[in-house]
Amino acid sequence: MTEIFKGSFTQQEPIPDEAISAALAVMRSGRLHRYNVAEGEPGEVALLEREFADAMGARYCLATASGGSAIATALRAAGVSPGDRVLTNAFTLAPVPGAIASLGAVPVYVGVTEGLVIDLDHLRDLAGQGDAQVLLLSHMRGHICDMDRLMQICDAAGIVVIEDCAHTMGASWNGTLSGRHGRAACYSTQTYKHLNSGEGGFLATDDPDLMARAVILSGSYMLYDRHLAAPAPEVFEKVKYVTPNVSGRMDNLRAAILRPQLRDLATQCARWNERYDTVETGLRGTPGLTVIERPEKERYVGSSIQFLLLDWSEGAIAEVLRRCAARGVELKWFGGAEPSGFTSRYDSWRYAPAERLPNSDRVLRAILDMRLPLTFSIEDCALLAGIIRAEVGAVWQGSRA
Ligand SMILES: *Cc1c(COP(=O)(O)O)cnc(C)c1O
Repeated sequence: MTEIFKGSFTQQEPIPDEAISAALAVMRSGRLHRYNVAEGEPGEVALLEREFADAMGARYCLATASGGSAIATALRAAGVSPGDRVLTNAFTLAPVPGAIASLGAVPVYVGVTEGLVIDLDHLRDLAGQGDAQVLLLSHMRGHICDMDRLMQICDAAGIVVIEDCAHTMGASWNGTLSGRHGRAACYSTQTYKHLNSGEGGFLATDDPDLMARAVILSGSYMLYDRHLAAPAPEVFEKVKYVTPNVSGRMDNLRAAILRPQLRDLATQCARWNERYDTVETGLRGTPGLTVIERPEKERYVGSSIQFLLLDWSEGAIAEVLRRCAARGVELKWFGGAEPSGFTSRYDSWRYAPAERLPNSDRVLRAILDMRLPLTFSIEDCALLAGIIRAEVGAVWQGSRA
């Protein structure tokens, strides 16, 4: 089989017509700023915040300019200060340690397991040292760890958990939606995530004080009473003079595009999983390749898929990448020594010096990643798996010949 895949790994679906109409209405009104609303009109952003809070089962929600800004806002609202140590995943994307660094705080990396989740034994050891009060937990690539055990460890150590749900919007652990375990959860609506407004994000929480600080931080001025998913004005009285405006709001245009998409989230998640499950089935049993087994309690959203080439040489992995690319299959290698595209390793973030994590290095070196945009058909996904299977197999056999 030497078929070549012709699809584009960066091509998302078009914005739904209903969302385009809503966006046109906002543009015709000229009222794009979230607080620039007509008398008696709630505005698209405030409505979206209420709808997102309801969809996630949270009391409060704030829409933000980006996922990264939601994370930095959540950390700041949770009281993280310059010099504080903040625990976070060694396997994640650059905006996660970046949000910590943006506050002058210091990321402390927790290792990754072969299941691609945070290493809970390592977390327990670091939590026991008692010098970090916050864990910024990234559900990287949609892999959810044993959240019951994670919360036990963090509760016992008095550590506040902020969840980065950029890849788990719509996913759940043991029947609880991802983002509902920690003190606050952050989401992204950037083009490659589960809702697409180009840029954007959400912060959701049940904590009224945290949300009041977050709203002021996001740039509400004293217009916070126009929010529909924020605490009562009395709560703001306590924080309004002592919380800076860091400006990172969402606008009505993006919110208008997101509201119809949010109504379709469950359907879209199911469509991602059909694609994911097709690729996973096609990869299973490939010699030398490790499929990531998903725990029974995890309900994931397969908007991308990962597999491991554990203990392969760098040369052999590079050869797999080259051969797959020649057949139109774009794999990303999280273990590459140099940061490339959107992948980088904890040791590439040199503003935050890290101790070496040998077990994690072994896993990171092995991770290959492939996006699964919804523009791919199920047949496309079967073809993708077939190509990877054949090329991994060829290199594996070559290396043992
Ligand atoms: C995309 C992403 C973010 C940041 O979201 P932006 O909206 O791009 O700022 C944070 N964490 C992870 C894991 C992401 O993939």
